[in-house]
Amino acid sequence: MDLYEHQARGLFEEHGIPVPRAEVTDSPEGARESARRLGGRVVVKAQVKTGGRGKAGGVRLAEDPAAAELTARQILGMNIKGHTVGKVMLARPVDIEAEFYISYVLDRAAGRFLAIASAEGGTEIEEVAAARPEAVSRIPVDPAVGVTSAKAQEIAEAAGLPPQTVDVLVRLWQVLVREDALLVEVNPLVRTRQGQILALDGKVTLDDNARFRQARWGDEEEEYDDSLEAAAAARGLNYVKLDGEVGIIGNGAGLVMSTLDVVAGCGARPANFLDIGGGASAQVMADGLAVILSDPAVKSVFVNVFGGITACDAVADGIVQALDTVRLTKPLVVRLDGNNAARGRAVLDAYAHPLVQQVTTMDGAARRSAQLANTS
Ligand code: GDP
Ligand code: MN
Repeated sequence: MDLYEHQARGLFEEHGIPVPRAEVTDSPEGARESARRLGGRVVVKAQVKTGGRGKAGGVRLAEDPAAAELTARQILGMNIKGHTVGKVMLARPVDIEAEFYISYVLDRAAGRFLAIASAEGGTEIEEVAAARPEAVSRIPVDPAVGVTSAKAQEIAEAAGLPPQTVDVLVRLWQVLVREDALLVEVNPLVRTRQGQILALDGKVTLDDNARFRQARWGDEEEEYDDSLEAAAAARGLNYVKLDGEVGIIGNGAGLVMSTLDVVAGCGARPANFLDIGGGASAQVMADGLAVILSDPAVKSVFVNVFGGITACDAVADGIVQALDTVRLTKPLVVRLDGNNAARGRAVLDAYAHPLVQQVTTMDGAARRSAQLANTS
C-alpha cells in the first residue's frame, strides 16, 4: 500500500526526521484555519498517490489564510494523472538552499535493498538518471546490517550530500525497517538557508504482507481511489495495470506472466496482468472483463486458459454467462486448451458472438490479439 504524503510525513516525524509543520484538510475553510494556525503563509499541497504534483499545479504557495482557502478550493477536486484530489496538506514554507534526493528500495533481483541518492533532488529522479546518470548514486544495502552511521556516511559521500544529512539517512532506514516498508523516498530532502535539513516530500510504500503486524494500517480504511486497480481490488481480483493496449485474462499467475511475454513478442503491449485463478467462475470472468473493458487504453482482449482441474467447458460457460452481463465493446480472442478443450470451444462456437474469436494455440491467439490492437 502506498501512503499519502501526509501519512509519510507523520511516520518521518515519529522517527525523528525533521519535517515542516503541517496540517491536512478536505475543505477550503479548513485550509484557511490551518494556514492561520501555521502562521499565515503556507504551501498548499494536493494529496494524491502520484509524483509530479508540483508540475501539475498541485503544490502552490499561498501568502495568507484567505489565499490558502482560495488555493485549496482550486486544488481540491483537481485531477492529477488520473487521481482526484480529496485532501490538501498545508505546510509551513521553507527557504530552500539546496535540494537532494534519497530513497531506499527493495532490489528483489539482488535480494538486497538499494540506497539511491543524488545531490540533484527536486525533479523526478528518473529524469535526472536519464539526463545525467553520473549524478545518481546506487549503493547496495545489506538488510542484515542496514544503514548504520558508517553506511550513511558512505551513501552521503558517494552522492555528494552534506554530512548533516547522515542522521536523516539512518533514521529513514529505521522507518523502512520498523514500518515494514518496501520503499521510502524523500524528494526533495532540503537544506534551508538557515542550515537545517528537512524532508519536504515523502513517499512510503508499505509491504502488504506485513499488514498483520502493523496494527495501525490493518484496520485503516482504504481512502477513496478511482483507479482501475482499486476497482479490481474491490472485486477481489488479482489485477495489475500496465501501459499497453491488449487486455489479458488468464488462469494461473505463471500462465498470465508468459502470456504478457508472448503478446509483447508479437509486437503489442499488454494493458494489464489479470489472473482469475483456478476456479474461473462466471462471476470472476464477468468482473475481470468489466474492469478490462472499462480501461480506455484497451483495444483487444485475450483470454488465455489452460484447463486443469477446472475444465475448459466450465470456463466457456463462465465466458458466456459473463457476456450476458457485460456488454462486449472490443474484440475478444479466446484460447482454450487442456481439460475438455473441445467441449469448451463448442460452447463458444454455439454462442457465436460476433466479437468473440477462438484461436487454438497460445502463439496464434497472441498474434491475433496483437494484430487487433495494432489495427483498431
Ligand atoms: P512533487 O512535485 O509531487 O514531488 O511535490 P513536492 O512536495 O516535492 O513539491 C514540488 C516542489 O515544490 C519541490 O521540489 C520544491 O522545489 C517546491 N516546494 C515544496 N515545498 C516548498 C517550500 O516550502 N518552499 C519552497 N521554496 N519550495 C517548496
Ligand atoms: Mn517531490
